[in-house]
Amino acid sequence: MSSLVEVGEGVWVRTSERFVTNTTVVRLAGASCLVVDPAVDPDDLAELVAALASVSLDVAAGWSTHPHWDHVLWSSGLGADVPRYATAVNARHCRDHRDKVMARLAEASAGHELDLCARLTAVDLDAAGLARFELELGLGIGSGIGSGIGSGLTSSAGRCRVIEHSAHARGHGALFFPDLGLFVAGDMASDIEIPLLDSHPVDPVGDYLAALRQYEALIGSVTTFIPGHGAIGDGRELERRIAADRAYLSDLVSGRPSDDPRLATAWLATEHERHLALVRTRALP
Ligand SMILES: [Zn+2]
Repeated sequence: MSSLVEVGEGVWVRTSERFVTNTTVVRLAGASCLVVDPAVDPDDLAELVAALASVSLDVAAGWSTHPHWDHVLWSSGLGADVPRYATAVNARHCRDHRDKVMARLAEASAGHELDLCARLTAVDLDAAGLARFELELGLGIGSGIGSGIGSGLTSSAGRCRVIEHSAHARGHGALFFPDLGLFVAGDMASDIEIPLLDSHPVDPVGDYLAALRQYEALIGSVTTFIPGHGAIGDGRELERRIAADRAYLSDLVSGRPSDDPRLATAWLATEHERHLALVRTRALP
């Protein structure tokens, strides 16, 4: 039996046991597909390759939502020459800090084909917050006008937009497919992980809240959303999670103790301590 679960027309998810990590597969033209964040250990990737074969899907492209080690993976089974796309910031980070990304990856999960991981191609985005994403495979048929942009293939996935922000990680690119009502959220809006702040920005909480506003704007158009880790949900569940994330961040910045149930997990309690220190540091004049 395939480990891929079809969660919508032409949309599949494979969930790895480790960190409850979701890999999303979206059918493009014909039997080709886009694979978002294949994860997480080498045996997971091997099983993903077998599962794709079992449903007769060929991998035409990959997408990395952000430059953390468990979101930049790839394997020869998925296709060594298949393009793996990302935001320009993500692609640049993986190129400029390759040693660091690779060291973290090798430490966290042994046995990956390292030469194939974190090799990303930047997509061109327009100036809008909801930018166009025009894969040269026919996926991006961008604005809906002139279908046939790129190679001229017709995509069953229709349009796709990158929702780029800098919450959680620099160059974070979630994918929104308006014609499918599908939102691939990246490492946000999880039922099992608190908002995990990137330590690098000047205003990590402000960046996070800005990203939540971008996500909130999609709620009415989303029928299925897939977080990087945790359970998938519908538009109402996305709304609920955004509210939970806002409540957590509000407590964090105001110094109130948090009763967020996700903090019962030990490593997330540790992350919470990091956040407290981060907020204290940033609050200094
Ligand atoms: Zn992450």
